[in-house]
Amino acid sequence: MAALEIHNVRKEFGSEQVLKNVSISIDSGEFLILVGPSGCGKSTLMNAIAGLEPVTSGNIYIDGEDVTWRTPADRDIAMVFQSYALYPSMTVRQNISFGLEMRKVPKAEREQAVERVADLLQITHLLERKPAQLSGGQRQRVAMGRALAREPKVYLFDEPLSNLDAKLRVDMRTEIKKLHQRLGTTIVYVTHDQVEAMTLADCIAVMRDGNILQLGTPDEVYNNPVDMFVAGFMGSPS
Ligand code: ADP
Ligand code: MG
Repeated sequence: MAALEIHNVRKEFGSEQVLKNVSISIDSGEFLILVGPSGCGKSTLMNAIAGLEPVTSGNIYIDGEDVTWRTPADRDIAMVFQSYALYPSMTVRQNISFGLEMRKVPKAEREQAVERVADLLQITHLLERKPAQLSGGQRQRVAMGRALAREPKVYLFDEPLSNLDAKLRVDMRTEIKKLHQRLGTTIVYVTHDQVEAMTLADCIAVMRDGNILQLGTPDEVYNNPVDMFVAGFMGSPS
């Protein structure tokens, strides 16, 4: 059974068809990278999976259950989006713990989860700081930690590294890859960085104008692009 199935999803904003007829099936533990030019509908698709925007039609299944009309909190997902707003008045520890508190996770378990992700992301020494006392990269790790404190069926990452400088992006990319290998979780990850796509993905979906043009392994998409657009976008050899 697929961990995540997107079935014939359409999304309209007024008269604009932003998602035309998107179907994707992702196996448990798979790392799917979604790429495509700005405005093609990547974030709209992520928001639909997260339940932040209702779809116009179609269905979304997590572990075989139809979650199309469930609220974000009732879907077994955690997300890190481009604008990773941390709560400025809370410490790092409280920021990471807050989502668990909302879900009524007992205190001892919350503390364990905080220690676990802090260790994983090497932010233990930052736990008592406030977001204003952190660098951009450290804030990014905290945002990541907030998502990783939970162990959902599916993680959604929408350009989580785009605000970081090049060096840190490469470091974080390596870390995300290790995390995936270690935790074996299902991930959908949006990036416009082809290198990031090629290094992280089990599977790449190339999107254009609200459609998935190609879905395949990095090797397939890079070496056997379905058309000129995919070839150009992936930088395939001609
Ligand atoms: P991407 O993430 O691939 O850059 P988006 O999914 O953000 O693209 O946007 C796809 C299209 O949908 C764009 O034309 C954008 O203007 C439009 N769009 C996104 N969100 C909304 C919204 N809340 N209301 C109206 N139009 C929107
Ligand atoms: Mg976007």
